[in-house]
Amino acid sequence: MSPGGRRPLVIGNWKMNLTELWAAALVEDLLRRLGDTGSVEIAVAPAFPCLHVVAERVRASSVRLGAQDVHWEESGPWTGEVSSRMLSEMGVWFVLVGHSERRTHFGETDERVQRKVEALRRHSLVPVLCLGETEHQRDEGRTLAVVERQLRLGLGALAVETGAEVVIAYEPVWAIGTGRTAAPEQVGEVHRMIREQLGSMFGPGVSGRVRILYGGSITPENASGLFALDEVDGGLVGGASLDAAKFTAIVGAARG
Ligand code: PEP
Repeated sequence: MSPGGRRPLVIGNWKMNLTELWAAALVEDLLRRLGDTGSVEIAVAPAFPCLHVVAERVRASSVRLGAQDVHWEESGPWTGEVSSRMLSEMGVWFVLVGHSERRTHFGETDERVQRKVEALRRHSLVPVLCLGETEHQRDEGRTLAVVERQLRLGLGALAVETGAEVVIAYEPVWAIGTGRTAAPEQVGEVHRMIREQLGSMFGPGVSGRVRILYGGSITPENASGLFALDEVDGGLVGGASLDAAKFTAIVGAARG
């Protein structure tokens, strides 16, 4: 448990990997290895076509199911898109929003992120809002301003009473899939700013309940150091979440 009484959360983002058979095999392996998940909350986000097989397997466990994206409308002429209601009916608990790969490759703007967050809350789904600066922005000394803007715009339409029902993932873009991890001082500085901003947006009570995760090249080797930081409430794990042994070790590090 973090100093604020927040339960650690570790999320696996499987990205565009695995077909149904492999996704089923991975989640079965994971469930065998994880055993009692204890104090840590665990969640995985398979690609849309694999949600069903993973949902069936995690239903009787405490592992939560997530999706990697969502559309902001309820239904209609949006070819290729998936709505919050569809995800909710599949047993999805959380959805990644504003992941840097979507911001970079698919034109995800803060305005769209805000609409997605709103749509998810209408269906009581948990938005995992991903924020982070590029290397260029960090070099220019703009990290805090960039992340603050993404946070304020992303959550801008949320009512105060639902402010706590979100998870924030700070993921420096330069650390995602690169093998480079942010230094503890860098993580601490950004996480403290995020919590301060949440306090000014929603009040200290709500702000104290929101979990702020770190993401970016987390491995079994570096996880304990990151999770030991008071400001870090868990992790968003990409590459290492595709290996059940590595992901289990990372969850172990979050148990402390
Ligand atoms: C991610 O995609 O959210 C991520 C953190 O990836 P990786 O762990 O591979 O850096």
